Amino acid sequence: MDHFALVDGVMHCEGVSLERIAADVGSPVYVYSAATFTRHAEVFRDGLAGVKRKHIAYAIKANPNLAVLRLLANAGYGADVVSGGELARAIAAGIPASDIVFSGVGKTVAELTKALDAGLGQFNLELEEEGVVLAALAAAGGRRADAVLRVNPDVDAGTHAKISTGKAENKFGVPISEARAIFDRLAGLPGLNLRGVAIHIGSQLADLAPLEAAYRRIGQLVQELRAAGHTISHVDLGGGLGVPYKAGDVFPTPAAYGAMVARVTDGWDATLMFEPGRVIAGNAGVLLTRVIWVKPGVTNPYVIVDAAMNDLARPAMYDAWHDFAAVRPTGARMTANIAGPVCESGDTFAMGRDIDSVKSGDLAIFRTAGAYGATMASTYNSRALVPEVLVSGDRYAVVADRIQPETILAAERLPEWLTA
Ligand SMILES: *Cc1c(COP(=O)(O)O)cnc(C)c1O
Repeated sequence: MDHFALVDGVMHCEGVSLERIAADVGSPVYVYSAATFTRHAEVFRDGLAGVKRKHIAYAIKANPNLAVLRLLANAGYGADVVSGGELARAIAAGIPASDIVFSGVGKTVAELTKALDAGLGQFNLELEEEGVVLAALAAAGGRRADAVLRVNPDVDAGTHAKISTGKAENKFGVPISEARAIFDRLAGLPGLNLRGVAIHIGSQLADLAPLEAAYRRIGQLVQELRAAGHTISHVDLGGGLGVPYKAGDVFPTPAAYGAMVARVTDGWDATLMFEPGRVIAGNAGVLLTRVIWVKPGVTNPYVIVDAAMNDLARPAMYDAWHDFAAVRPTGARMTANIAGPVCESGDTFAMGRDIDSVKSGDLAIFRTAGAYGATMASTYNSRALVPEVLVSGDRYAVVADRIQPETILAAERLPEWLTA
């Protein structure tokens, strides 16, 4: 459920008209619903009611806006971060360092050091050498880092190849066949409190079966590690739950997911950790855009909008679908292609799609743009960096400014030898 709906014929986010936001802030602009974020956080937690000891760390890469992080911190969520920059954001948003998990296959020594200094909650180790380095850094500072070993369970998540992370050939985690030996070697290191294992098999999962298969494998591993004398107090089950992008698509609910987790992990006797991203943020945001032209095409007209692949990369990057809707629909329909102004044929949001009829100057939205939207934006084609707005009830705030091309230009310099 989200809070984007027609009120008196005009699309609103909660109590605020998107026409008003476009008039005040311009377009394109991301618009987020605070009530939707909060509700999703509650529904996900409620779904896990059957899990007694748990820690939920929002995967902030899905939507790292500071205001969004504050909302989720207020809802009691920790954070899963994948870079020093994300760590700084999570802390700036008020998430206690002890509630933060550090994932990521390429953490640098500088990032590990910064996280240790901050008092980070848990390091998710991606390879043996990282554990050795972290242990040495921690020991040198007279500390012990809490860590888990990320395991690659070799499960096909059945999702888009670019967001599949749990197949043996993917870059993430250590092979499950080697996990036991690596765990044995790392567990003895001073400076490291190796307390469990982690998995994350991919994103936008449409089916619980691959997750269940992966959880069963990791459960088996936990038994083997305990049999070998290791203390396993934490198991990180990652994120990945998908969301419907197309009206009518049906996805596993957080309640169904939670029931599966409770069933599979019964008797594990560990704190379970979760890293949901998309399922919290996806349907909490839209990308608001204005139609620039309706250009005649060979088969269908091209609706050229002022949002482009630099603002919302998912269609160009993952062939992703985003529902398109007019802000003031007339009831008429048209079949059209939808594209942005960027000089790439890949800058296309839809081909031959049945949509609300629109004409030059009309406002429209791409739905389900709250996750992996603004955070992937760039300034390609020297376009502005897209701003973000957060709505709560009948008020809204600009929570990220539009960064103009002039500002980007001002950070560039001519070398002296070109100025003569
Ligand atoms: C991206 C990521 C997540 C979140 O994935 P979603 O599909 O957005 O839930 C969780 N954990 C790790 C380690 C990730 O890289």
